Amino acid sequence: MIKYSLICSEKHEFEVWFSNSSDYDAQKSKLLISCPYCSSTKIEKGIMAPNIASSRKREKTAMEKDRNLSDLNSVIGKLRQHIKEKFEYVGDKFPEEARAIYYGEKEERKIYGEASLDEAKNLQDEGISLSAIPQLASPKNKKKLN
Ligand SMILES: [Zn+2]
Repeated sequence: MIKYSLICSEKHEFEVWFSNSSDYDAQKSKLLISCPYCSSTKIEKGIMAPNIASSRKREKTAMEKDRNLSDLNSVIGKLRQHIKEKFEYVGDKFPEEARAIYYGEKEERKIYGEASLDEAKNLQDEGISLSAIPQLASPKNKKKLN
């Protein structure tokens, strides 16, 4: 059931229940709906009462989603900031630096940089543990960490 607030050509407002929105269209096209005050069949839809609450709910859900996303971005932002401060940036030399440290050719230290998925997989196959640094969860953010 759906309740429509209707308004006639004389600006009389009244409410009518219909089983669904196509029921309203069908009755209107057959001129079955008439104003209780002046019997006019020139009827327009006013505000649909049942939809007000649900559209507010949708707005709220969208706001909550935004808030969750910004929380996530702030956590990732802090993580990235921490890495920038505590780790040494080696850029695209990351795979060879990680190997050199792993095999003891270079002094052990925390590094970060870039590696392709293949390179990362090879490193992991050799037993070198590494973590992918999450990007900020925005589709616009395609920048690499540097
Ligand atoms: Zn009327």
